[in-house]
Amino acid sequence: MSKVVVISGASSGIGEATARVLAAAGHRVFLGARREDRLAALAAEIGAAHAPLDVTSRESFRSFVDAAVERYGRVDVLVNNAGVMPLSLMGSLKVDEWDRMVDVNLKGVLNGIAAVLPRFTGGGHVVNVASVGAHMVMPTAAVYCATKYAVWALSEGLRQERQDVRVTVVSPGATASELTDGITDDFAASVMEEFVRKALPASAIGEAIAYAVAQPAEVDVNEIVVRPVTQD
Ligand code: NDP
Repeated sequence: MSKVVVISGASSGIGEATARVLAAAGHRVFLGARREDRLAALAAEIGAAHAPLDVTSRESFRSFVDAAVERYGRVDVLVNNAGVMPLSLMGSLKVDEWDRMVDVNLKGVLNGIAAVLPRFTGGGHVVNVASVGAHMVMPTAAVYCATKYAVWALSEGLRQERQDVRVTVVSPGATASELTDGITDDFAASVMEEFVRKALPASAIGEAIAYAVAQPAEVDVNEIVVRPVTQD
C-alpha cells in the first residue's frame, strides 16, 4: 500500500538512499533537510516533494510536516533520520559539538515526534534511525552514543505508550555517507578510518527501513540492526 513518508536528513547518505528505495516502492516521499538544492535535485529525480527543515527547531519541524500534509493530504510515516557525529574524547571539551549532537540527534528526533503525532490519522509509524552506538559505547563516541541510547529509550517508551502508532528503531553499523566529514578531531578521525573502510552502501539501511514500512498494520517491527558482516 502506498504511504506518505516524511524523511528528515534526506539530502545525503541514509536519508537520500531511503528516499530512493521508498519512492521506487511506490510510496509518496516528502524530503527534508537544510541543503535545499540537494533536496530539489533528488526530488526531481525520484518524483518526490521537498521542504526546508532544521530539526533543531520545533517550529521548523511542525511547518515541514504541515507542508507534507498540505501536499499529500496526510502523513503515514516519519523517518527521523537526521544526525551528526562530530566525535572526540570528552577530555577535549568540544562542548559546542556535544550540544550540536544533543540538539540534532536527540532533540531533533523529539521535535519530529511532536510534529507528527497530532497529524497521524488512523495509525501512524515513527521510524527512528539510531545506531549500533545505541547498544555499545565506542572510543571517542561517548556523547554520540548517549544521544543514540536516548533515541532507543524514547522509541521504546513511545512504543509502550501508543498502541495505535508503530515505532521502529533502525540501528545501522558502518554505512557509507557524509557522516564522518563532520569530525574535527584528528584522533577521532583516525579511529574511524577502519569503520569507514568496512562501510555498507546506504541503500542497505534504506532497504531495512522499507521492510519495516511495508509490514501489515498489525505488525510493528521494533528494531532492525544492520552491520557489515566484517564489523565487530
Ligand atoms: P550524512 O551526514 O550523510 O547525513 C546526515 C543528514 O542529516 C543530512 O541529510 C543532513 O542534511 C541532515 N542534518 C544534519 N543536521 C540537520 C539539521 N539541523 N536539520 C535537518 N537535517 C539535518 O550521514 P548518514 O546518512 O550516515 O546519517 C543518517 C543517520 O544515520 C544519522 O542519524 C546517523 O547518526 C545514523 N547512523 C549512521 C551511521 C553510518 O555509519 N553512516 C551508523 C549509525 C547511525 P543537511 O546538512 O542538508 O541539513
